[in-house]
Amino acid sequence: MELKRLSDSHNEGFKMKSFSAQDRSSAIKKMESDVIFDLFIIGGGITGAGVARDAVSRGMTVALAEKTDFAQGTSSRSSKLIHGGIRYLENLEFGLVFEALSERSRLFSMAPHLVHPLRFILPVYKGSRVGPMLLSMGMWLYDILALFRAPMLHERLSKKEALKRMPSLKEDGLECAFEYSDAYMDDDRLVIETLRSAHAGGAQCANYVEVRKISLSPPMHHIDCYDHKTKKEFRVKARHIVSSLGPWTDQFASGQFKDWKDILRPTKGVHLTLRRDRLNLDSAVVMVDDAKNRIVFGIPRHEMSIIGTTDTDFKESPDSVNATKEDIKYLLEIASEYFPGAKIQESDIVASYSGVRPLVKDESSSEGKTSREHTVITQPEGITWVAGGKYTTYRKMAEDIVDSCLSLFSLEERVRFGRSNTKLELNSLITEESYHRAKLNAASLAERSHLTLAEAQRMIDRHGPEAFEIVSRYGSELSMIELECLHAIDYGMCFEITDFMTRRMPLFLAEYDHGASLLPLIVRTFAKKYNWSSEEQEAQISRYQVHIRSELSWRA
Ligand SMILES: Cc1cc2nc3c(=O)[nH]c(=O)nc-3n(C[C@H](O)[C@H](O)[C@H](O)COP(=O)(O)OP(=O)(O)OC[C@H]3O[C@@H](n4cnc5c(N)ncnc54)[C@H](O)[C@@H]3O)c2cc1C
Repeated sequence: MELKRLSDSHNEGFKMKSFSAQDRSSAIKKMESDVIFDLFIIGGGITGAGVARDAVSRGMTVALAEKTDFAQGTSSRSSKLIHGGIRYLENLEFGLVFEALSERSRLFSMAPHLVHPLRFILPVYKGSRVGPMLLSMGMWLYDILALFRAPMLHERLSKKEALKRMPSLKEDGLECAFEYSDAYMDDDRLVIETLRSAHAGGAQCANYVEVRKISLSPPMHHIDCYDHKTKKEFRVKARHIVSSLGPWTDQFASGQFKDWKDILRPTKGVHLTLRRDRLNLDSAVVMVDDAKNRIVFGIPRHEMSIIGTTDTDFKESPDSVNATKEDIKYLLEIASEYFPGAKIQESDIVASYSGVRPLVKDESSSEGKTSREHTVITQPEGITWVAGGKYTTYRKMAEDIVDSCLSLFSLEERVRFGRSNTKLELNSLITEESYHRAKLNAASLAERSHLTLAEAQRMIDRHGPEAFEIVSRYGSELSMIELECLHAIDYGMCFEITDFMTRRMPLFLAEYDHGASLLPLIVRTFAKKYNWSSEEQEAQISRYQVHIRSELSWRA
C-alpha cells in the first residue's frame, strides 16, 4: 500500500522522497485517474500544507492543488515569527496565546532548521501608553502561559543595560526595557518542508494547478482544475473538499456560490528589509506606535533586518497587493524614531514585501483588534472553509480542520482516521540533536566540498544534516548556489527563477541587486536541468524583473 502513516516512515529510518517535476506529473496523473480522494485541498500555503500532512498521517488519501507556487500567497509574506503574540494579551486572548506558545515549543523540535529562538527587546519610554508595571505583569503572564518553557525567561533591563544590549536604540526618554523570548522562522520553506512531509506520507501535491470550479454532489464531488504548465484542464474526484485559500476565500467562494456571504476582514501588512550593516540588531525590537495603538517589529535575520508590519483594511484582490509610498514612509518613520543615530533613508531599503491577512470578519473596531483566532466551517454539502489563524498554530489548526471534515464521514471511518500524528519532525533526517551535531561539523562539510567554511555553515543552518546529503548527491565540486538550485528543483518542486529568488532562497529580499550577480549561474543551472531554450531563459529572467518592479513599484 502506497500510503504510509508518517510514524511508519520514521520508524523505518526512511529518507525524504524527492519532490520534483516528475512527482508533480505523477500527482496530476493520479488526480485525473479514477481515484476518489478522501480529501481535496485547494491552496498550497501553510494551512493547506498542514492539512495535507495531518490527513495523510491519519491514513487518508489526499490531493492538493496550488494555483501558483507553494507559499506564494500570505505564507511567504509574514513577519516570519513563531510567537505567542504578546500583544494579544492586551485583548485578553489568553487561550490563543497559550495555544501559540505550546505550538512554538513543539516547532522547535519539529523543524529545528527552520524555527530558531530569538530574544526580543521592548523598550519603555517616559509617557508610554502601557507603563513598566503593567508590562511586567504581561511578561510574567507570557512566561507562565509558556509553562516556563521559553528558551529563556524574560528580564527587566535598566536603561543602562538596555543600551548596552541595543546600543543604537534612542536614549532620550528611555526608562527601562524588557527582554523576552520568541522565535523566527523561514516561512516559505516551512511550507515546502510540510509539503515534503505530506508527500512522503502519500499526499499528491501540485503547484501551478488552479481550481476553476467545484461541483458539490455528495457522496462524490468534482473539482475542475487547470494546469498552468501544460495548459490542460482536468477533473478530480473527492469525497470532501477543504478550502485553504487564505485571503482568496471570499473571492473564490463568491464565484462558485451565488448566495455566498463574506467571512473575511482582510488586512494588508507591509515589511521592508535593510542590510544588516545599516541596522545591525542582535535581538528583535518591539517598537510601539502609541498613536495607532499598535506595534512594529525590527527583526534580525541571517542576511537582513526586517521592519514590519503595517495593518490596514484591504478590499481589493489579494493578487494586486503591493506596498505604497505611505506604507514605506510609516515604517521608516517608526524605525527612525527608535534608531535616530542609524539615519535610515529610503535608499537604504533593499526590498519590501506585502501580504494580506485572512482575518475572520468580526465586530472589531480596528484592524489590530480583529482576532487572529481561526474559524473552521464545515458545510453538510461536503466542503470545509478555513479563515483566520496564524503560522505559529498551523499544526493544531490543521488537526481541527481535519477533525471537522471527518464529522461528515461514517462512524467507522471517523474511528479509522480519528487520530492524527503530526508532532514528529517534519524532515525525518533533521532532529534537534542531529541539527546541533551537524552544526558542529561544518568544517568537515567544507573539507569535503567546494564550500567555504561560512558557506558550509550557512548550508547547515538552512538544511541541517541534509546539507551533507545535498553535497554527496550532487557532487562536491559544485558551488553553494548550484547545490541550492538543484535541491530546490528536485526536493522543492521549483520551476521558476522567480520562485527560487524569492522563496527557496531569500535573494530578492536580502541582496541590494536582488541576486542579479548570481542570476546567470542560477539560470544556467535551471536551464540544464529543465532543458530550457534560450527564449525560455530570457522569459524567466524577464518574469523575475517584472516581479521586482511590481513589488517595488512604490519606488517609481
Ligand atoms: C503581514 C503579515 C504578517 C504576518 N506575520 C505572522 C507571523 O509573524 N507569525 C504568524 O504566526 N503568522 C503571521 N501572519 C499570519 C500568517 O502568515 C497567515 O495566517 C498564513 O500564512 C495564512 O496561510 P494560508 O495558507 O491560510 O493562506 P495563503 O498562504 O495565502 O495560501 C492560500 C493559497 O491559495 C492559493 N489559491 C488562491 N486561489 C486558488 C485557486 N483557485 N486554486 C488553487 N489555489 C489557489 C493562493 O495562491 C495561495 O497560495 C502574518 C500575516 C501577514 C499578512
